[in-house]
Amino acid sequence: MYLYEKVEGYKAQDIRAGRKIDDFITPSCIIKRLEFCNVCTTCREPFEYKIHNGVVTSNLTVDRISNAICHSKYNSQLMCKLCNVTKGNRFDKNLYDVEDKPKKKKTTFNDIKDNEIPKF
Ligand SMILES: [Zn+2]
Repeated sequence: MYLYEKVEGYKAQDIRAGRKIDDFITPSCIIKRLEFCNVCTTCREPFEYKIHNGVVTSNLTVDRISNAICHSKYNSQLMCKLCNVTKGNRFDKNLYDVEDKPKKKKTTFNDIKDNEIPKF
């Protein structure tokens, strides 16, 4: 029930933002993913649930990978609240590689080879 409400909330959010509702994520889809992996995709923090006075609170959120598309099955990943808030409204597909890569030094246009098109 908690997940059902969560999904409905995301749907309302996407509709308000004018995003097309297509192949929307379902509670059972979230449960399946949780069975497979019960930690945040970004920081590996385990998801937690607390029930207080019948109200469920959780650090589980569904993140849209691309900000331009709704919470569809293919555009969603499970993320903890903190990471999702930190990520904010920014869409950065390099976000998850950042930690692994050493910081690139500044390149001038003369340094750029054909196979190294910079991402802006
Ligand atoms: Zn996280």
